Amino acid sequence: MYDVIVVGAGVVGPCIATVMARQGRKVLIAEREWTKPNRIVGELLQPAGVKALKQLGMIGAINNIDAIQVDGYYVSYYGRHVEIKYPDKSVLAEIDTEPVPGALKLGNEDKLDTDSTLNMSEWDRSPTVHGVAFHHGDFLMNLRGLCLAEPNVTKVEGNVTDLIREDDRVVGVKVAGKDEYRAKLVICCDGIYSKFRKELYQDKQPEVGSYFVGLDLEDAELPLKNHGHVILGKHAPILVYQISPRHTRILCAYRSPQLPKQKEVLEYLRSQVLVSLPEKLKPSFEKALSAEQNVYKSMPNQYLTAKPNTVPGLIYVGDSLNMRHPLTGGGMTVGLNDAVLLCKLLADVSSDDFLDEGVMLEKMLTFHGERKPLDAVINTLSIALYTLFAAESKYLELLQRGCFAYFQRGGDCISGPVGLLSGMLQSPGLLFYHFFRVAFYSCYLNFCDKGFLQSPLALWENICTLSIAACVLLPYLIKELM
Ligand SMILES: Cc1cc2nc3c(=O)[nH]c(=O)nc-3n(C[C@H](O)[C@H](O)[C@H](O)COP(=O)(O)OP(=O)(O)OC[C@H]3O[C@@H](n4cnc5c(N)ncnc54)[C@H](O)[C@@H]3O)c2cc1C
Repeated sequence: MYDVIVVGAGVVGPCIATVMARQGRKVLIAEREWTKPNRIVGELLQPAGVKALKQLGMIGAINNIDAIQVDGYYVSYYGRHVEIKYPDKSVLAEIDTEPVPGALKLGNEDKLDTDSTLNMSEWDRSPTVHGVAFHHGDFLMNLRGLCLAEPNVTKVEGNVTDLIREDDRVVGVKVAGKDEYRAKLVICCDGIYSKFRKELYQDKQPEVGSYFVGLDLEDAELPLKNHGHVILGKHAPILVYQISPRHTRILCAYRSPQLPKQKEVLEYLRSQVLVSLPEKLKPSFEKALSAEQNVYKSMPNQYLTAKPNTVPGLIYVGDSLNMRHPLTGGGMTVGLNDAVLLCKLLADVSSDDFLDEGVMLEKMLTFHGERKPLDAVINTLSIALYTLFAAESKYLELLQRGCFAYFQRGGDCISGPVGLLSGMLQSPGLLFYHFFRVAFYSCYLNFCDKGFLQSPLALWENICTLSIAACVLLPYLIKELM
């Protein structure tokens, strides 16, 4: 009998298992594949994710993996560009930065060290917060290493095939080819393809609106070092960020709920993506395209709103509970901040009280409410920005142009949106405010373009643009806040 079983050792699972173990609980973590994964996901961690790793005492996981400090974004729009810096460190005063009780066993697990790529004196000296980019597999292996170093953690390798139930309560898991394992609480961190999500969601499926096609670039030259790059144009948005001194990730969105055959994807990459890249970047992209095999990997971009955790004995955290578009690189930030919140809420609950359904239901409702300010912002923003940046209609193109022009204005037209995207400003109201300022600014630009003679046309287009803006933001924001 364990106190806790964690299913899945991806990004969130090892963090929860480690903290629960440091809090003195007996933990089993079950993962089907303990070897290093090679995925195109989870490679850029936003500043609020870095903050959450510190609170969990797991920040050491970004050391010694050739990680690259990220200072902000470089957004290019039909060849013009704007630089967007992450917010000033003063924003840290506005949000919860307290470590999770018990997470800092030695007292220094929230400190980053200088290593071959991260310079802590530079990091500390700079006035802004930072994100970080890395090879996903290396980061995961560090998280798992920290987790398995805890004496209270036992690992098991194998596919969790079933949940064991007694009456209505989940009391353990079955692992293929192994035993049955029992615990007072099962925490499901089994990611986007969660086998057990149906316990909570019954027939609701995640929505897939587009794909990301990812390539590995070698020795790529980026227009601005230490920045994530977003390239906008007629094509769907392209993301580029350096993940180690010699490797750069490029993710090209493909607008379709189904990815076509390889030949068509390659044609898209050659005819639409390559021509839109900054000149410096083209040679490395052409080289990656000419690889004989495995030119690209692809992943669906899914969306799922979180529901309150109401299954007795079972809690979902991370992508198993909810998902957003990866354009804004917010998934790990949401998962890690949820892990912080959950471990804080359960810190004063004894393991025996995990069996008390009244206590746990109350905690889970609090969890659902308290995660909203950050999660609603990141999830809604990801969908809204993707819709604008992919611009599949004339009115969305007006909004896309308005959004870029809004960034060009600087000041709070940059600090607000990037504060939201980085997870440092956790206010759905602020998201509403900036989104509709962008919408009205787009309308103003359209009026200026059309001039007096075409003002009736501009008026009609602007009414359509504002209605589209409302349809892009409001349904998601409302769903997220419920
Ligand atoms: C294309 C793409 C790019 C992304 N880029 C970013 C980014 O740059 N920044 C960011 O913050 N987020 C990004 N994300 C999102 C991010 O990857 C996820 O939010 C994050 O990995 C979620 O962590 P998790 O622990 O919930 O799930 P995962 O990290 O997916 O871990 C789930 C784990 O559970 C294991 N597992 C699953 N089922 C079972 C089972 N039945 N038995 C045993 N083990 C099981 C899996 O093997 C896996 O190890 C991206 C997503 C996509 C699709």
